Amino acid sequence: MNLQDLAPKYVRLIAPYQPGKPVFELAREMGLNPAEIVKLASNENPLGMGSKAKAAIEKELAELARYPDGNGFDLKRKIAQKYKVNSDQIVLGNGSNDVLELVARAFLSPGDSAVYSQYAFAVYPLVTQAIGAQGIQVNALDYGHDLDAMLAAIVPTTKLVWIANPNNPTGTMARPGDLFEFLQNCPKNVLVVLDEAYTEFFTPEKRPDSMSWLTDFPNLIVVRTFSKAFGLAGLRVGMALTSPAVADIINRVRQPFNVNSLAQAAAIAALDDEEFLKKTLRVNSEGMAQLTAAFVRLGVSFIPSQANFIAFHCGDAAALNLFMLQRGVIIRPLAPYGLTNTLRVSVGLPAENARFIEVLEEALAD
Ligand SMILES: *Cc1c(COP(=O)(O)O)cnc(C)c1O
Repeated sequence: MNLQDLAPKYVRLIAPYQPGKPVFELAREMGLNPAEIVKLASNENPLGMGSKAKAAIEKELAELARYPDGNGFDLKRKIAQKYKVNSDQIVLGNGSNDVLELVARAFLSPGDSAVYSQYAFAVYPLVTQAIGAQGIQVNALDYGHDLDAMLAAIVPTTKLVWIANPNNPTGTMARPGDLFEFLQNCPKNVLVVLDEAYTEFFTPEKRPDSMSWLTDFPNLIVVRTFSKAFGLAGLRVGMALTSPAVADIINRVRQPFNVNSLAQAAAIAALDDEEFLKKTLRVNSEGMAQLTAAFVRLGVSFIPSQANFIAFHCGDAAALNLFMLQRGVIIRPLAPYGLTNTLRVSVGLPAENARFIEVLEEALAD
């Protein structure tokens, strides 16, 4: 007998998520020196974490024998101040992936459906399917969300729409006006999850003022993370910002201690570290310019990106990815998204970008 058969069919059919390869794993596999490996695969902050967050963690170490604050009182108060919302509009998560799963678990059940775009973040189909709800995938438009088609795809069973802006893995954006229009036209009894994991990287004129939309659209759930611009991916902390009624329901399926005390302390400090955020954005825009200039020089076509990573096209992506790995450069294949001629590289420090470009050039000359 196969114990896997005890799991519902919709669980057995889930394709496992493929994370970026860890440095130590590649070092072992290829016999490389870990110090020489460049990891540009998971859109992490190449600067590491900010000094304020680090100091907050060190201070919090003395309290680790205690359970964390299950309601995240101080962190929610800080978030509320920063984003001009009330604490009862916030749900904290063990990373925003946790929040995405909580939303699915709170609102979806078998027989319901959720709409998402082709090439959108892999976690949307994953959490939808894990519930046994039906995923409705809408064809992408120029690698991004086709909001009109997504609206048209909503059917009576639809309870949720997943939108990533900017989108991962393609880096595409939806215009603020188009998003607003989408919210206006979306049925009021359908929740819209607007995943803004990379919103800090937007130039101000492209960044939607999603916080101001929360009042008009109680069905809007904005999701943010501390994993990218704030440099805390390893700590796992993210949040949903929504109407009090929706937050209340999501909080009911949340485990009380899902955000640990180091993460809470670091997140509070990170929100105050303007300096670090500014430096992060500067390193990113310079790195993005470095990468795109190289793509242009080498005749490599790419998808213009608003985030801290960029997808580029190449003939045989699997072969190029292997070539990179053998030389200690970890980037991300997009074959799981059906993009077999496309790879995604995260923006790193200048020397890391230069190493990636060097190996790319070598591969193209090969
Ligand atoms: C990286 C990313 C997240 C953040 O995940 P965490 O669980 O907060 O680390 C969320 N959404 C998208 C689209 C992402 O790319």
